[in-house]
Amino acid sequence: MTDRLYYSDSYLTEFEARVLQGEQVGTLFEVRLDRTAFYPTSGGQPHDLGSMEGHPVVEVDDGSDGTIIHRLEHRLRPTRVRCQVHWPRRFDHMQQHTGQHVLSQSFIRVASLATVGFHLSAGYSTIDLEAADVDPSALRSAEDLANSIVYQNRSVTSQLVPPDEAARLNLRKPSQREGILRVVSIRDFDVSACGGTHVRQTGEIGGIFINRVERVNRRTRVEFVCGGRSLHSYRHCSEDLDRIAKGLSVAPQDAPDRVEKQTQEMKTLRKRLKAKDEWLAELLAQDLFHQVPAQEGIRIVKHQFEGEERAFLNLLAQRLLACGPCWVLLGNGGEQAQLLLARSESLPGDLRPVMKECSLMISGRGGGSPALVQGGGSDSSQLGNALDCAARRVLALANG
Ligand SMILES: [Zn+2]
Repeated sequence: MTDRLYYSDSYLTEFEARVLQGEQVGTLFEVRLDRTAFYPTSGGQPHDLGSMEGHPVVEVDDGSDGTIIHRLEHRLRPTRVRCQVHWPRRFDHMQQHTGQHVLSQSFIRVASLATVGFHLSAGYSTIDLEAADVDPSALRSAEDLANSIVYQNRSVTSQLVPPDEAARLNLRKPSQREGILRVVSIRDFDVSACGGTHVRQTGEIGGIFINRVERVNRRTRVEFVCGGRSLHSYRHCSEDLDRIAKGLSVAPQDAPDRVEKQTQEMKTLRKRLKAKDEWLAELLAQDLFHQVPAQEGIRIVKHQFEGEERAFLNLLAQRLLACGPCWVLLGNGGEQAQLLLARSESLPGDLRPVMKECSLMISGRGGGSPALVQGGGSDSSQLGNALDCAARRVLALANG
């Protein structure tokens, strides 16, 4: 068994211990100590980081035999080691974890909602509530209550109790564990069985903020941040909002309404643009079709655009084919060169080999059906040559 020093003092970061066992397992060196302040991954809380004899401890896990396994990338020789727990990470976990106790009890008080899951990840923490839907006002009330518990700076204490005594403690959630139980109490507010690391006073949590909620199966997942994370989160949101507001040339408080208004305008403009494109494609098709006289019954319409949308090329090809029997060869220059070759169903030949050859000229590739092929490439400078090549090949196809 490893003596877990963090049970009695979660603020302890430096300690000495005796090495019980050290062995190479795969690429890592596993160390078991007689005592440790390193918290192992468990109960939804990730492990601590730190060092042993100056070498980084990269993973800490609960062994199945009551010991704690510390993993290092470096092989250790000494039988007594000096260890250091990385405090900023530990304190962050203490803030989030104690915040979770407060928030979970707050949901019970304001909405009779029990917490059935907890996860602490690198950027935020989540609790799962046993309800598919939670009223937004309940979320705000729970958040308000949780923060008032922070302001009241209540003491947080832990004790080890035998199982029969634990039954009388009115735990927030009954424990499945057998044997001695570690119980964490927030004065006159919450009593929970928990093996994690917590702050001494609720004031150190520094604030509890719900970021968002989502429905997961039949539960509600509440994402929240505490302490230092809420400061970072606030800074990011505030900087993002400032950027949005500057981009829109409005005051930050006017940005949401402006975004909504502009989104609506954008939808209307897209609709109008689409109608105009249809109209333009029709006019252009008529113009291009009649500009090219049919020679011995063969009409090849060739046109090159610059920076046009691919969708417009498709639209134009459709309209051209509707004008009468023809071959359509369209190119579009820009960052990416595009090619579209099409023929009326009544005309002969397979355009796929033609596209294969022409798309190589623009350093790209393409494909499709015998009557309609599309391709793209990186070399717009060769687009004119590719279209000329397509015209020669198509003429050969038309002449059989
Ligand atoms: Zn806890």
